[in-house]
Amino acid sequence: MSFELINRARRTIGFRLALWYAGAFILSSLLLFGLAYFLLASSLERRDRESIEVRLRELEAQYRAEGRKGVQEGLAFQKRLGNKKPFFIRIASPRNATVLMAVPDEWAEFDLSVLEHPPVAEPGRLLRLPAKDDEAVLEIASTRLSGGTLLQVGKSTEERDSFLENFRSIVAGVMVPVILIGVTGGAFLAWRALRPIRQLIDTVRAIESGAMAARVPTRQTGDELDELGQLFNSMLDRIAALIQGMRGALDNVAHDLRTPMTRLRGIAEVALQSEHSLDTCREALADCVEEADQLLTMLNTLMDISEAETGALKLDLEAVNVAALMEDALDLYQDVAEEKGVTVSTMAPKELWLTADRNRLRQVVANLLDNAIKYTPSGGRIELGAHRQEHTVVLHVKDTGIGITPDELPRVWDRLYRGKPGLSQRGLGLGLSLVKAVVEAHRGHVEASSAPGVGSVFTVVLPIRPANLR
Ligand code: ADP
Repeated sequence: MSFELINRARRTIGFRLALWYAGAFILSSLLLFGLAYFLLASSLERRDRESIEVRLRELEAQYRAEGRKGVQEGLAFQKRLGNKKPFFIRIASPRNATVLMAVPDEWAEFDLSVLEHPPVAEPGRLLRLPAKDDEAVLEIASTRLSGGTLLQVGKSTEERDSFLENFRSIVAGVMVPVILIGVTGGAFLAWRALRPIRQLIDTVRAIESGAMAARVPTRQTGDELDELGQLFNSMLDRIAALIQGMRGALDNVAHDLRTPMTRLRGIAEVALQSEHSLDTCREALADCVEEADQLLTMLNTLMDISEAETGALKLDLEAVNVAALMEDALDLYQDVAEEKGVTVSTMAPKELWLTADRNRLRQVVANLLDNAIKYTPSGGRIELGAHRQEHTVVLHVKDTGIGITPDELPRVWDRLYRGKPGLSQRGLGLGLSLVKAVVEAHRGHVEASSAPGVGSVFTVVLPIRPANLR
């Protein structure tokens, strides 16, 4: 492995994660072993002290009952029996001259002459006498007997030390697999934990190299990385749908622009070719202006829809009275409706308010009303209504018109879509797309239901106070 490769691996999150895990695992194992060692050492020490204390009390009682001779005989008897747990025992005169002393043969060598001039042990503490080779310590407890005689009982720490040493070497042996487990476990965990991220990177790479259909594999585990994968996929799906939509819209626009542009060109060409009077030329120019206006309206509406859909449409939010808004829209279309012999009624509570862009909302109602009038034959009725429902205002435009067939109904919201009846009417096929885009820009939604030959209902649901809006 080259130096460059190692350097790159060191910068990866996986490497750092593995290192952290291994470090934490090894450190906590060490701490655990350390704690176990400390507890073991202190419990062994306490056990030794207790046994010294017990032996001291035993001998004290024996001395009181049988005197020094009794103690001496007792010791000789125990030696003959081969006592497995021998103690150091010393009896000294009140002036600290050794009278009797028993030291087990198998213990390390201690300089016991020191005991004649002993270092002062702290009260309640044992006297500690190091062995000549410093390998062990003789711990001695003392008590004064009647007449000032000194009785001392001690025990070497050899047995305890060798037990602890064994424990230390076992721990040292165990640490090798612990380190191995820490390092491999850390590497494995980091590899597992970062698998979704690697899959995300692979997907982005695949998309970058042109495979637009690539998606992150999700495991439905519900964890954060799985959620990230799902969100990433749904974002990709949304982008794909938008691209598809834009392509479709572009195709439609190109197609729909061709007809008025050809007409425009035709009018101009005819006017140029023949030697017409000035009036005829003026008429041709007026037709050109009309066609150009229609084109401009179409382009502007398309721009508005795109802006509303992408969230770039600036909304001038203010308090809007719904009843007044409906009256405004009705004023605009009253004459057209009368001319067509269609009656329009409005029905909305006077005090129904919502926060919205007044002009955009008026455009929404006007477009729906315009359609209702267009697609309702003479003698029909249109109802413009609104009511409050929880935190929303529900607006509806109901007509007794020609209706929409079930296969056409979902498509009426598409840009530049015009149903069969629409083709015989004025219009660009953009009215409902704009309604939907503007309503959704207000965080609302639209619905339509219709029965051919009976009529249609277009419903707009808007939040009274749209959240997260500029
Ligand atoms: P247009 O300019 O054609 O009216 P819209 O986007 O407003 O475009 O409507 C799309 C199509 O939906 C229309 O061509 C028509 O077929 C259908 N439509 C819309 N409103 C109604 C209605 N109230 N009754 C019946 N059909 C309707």
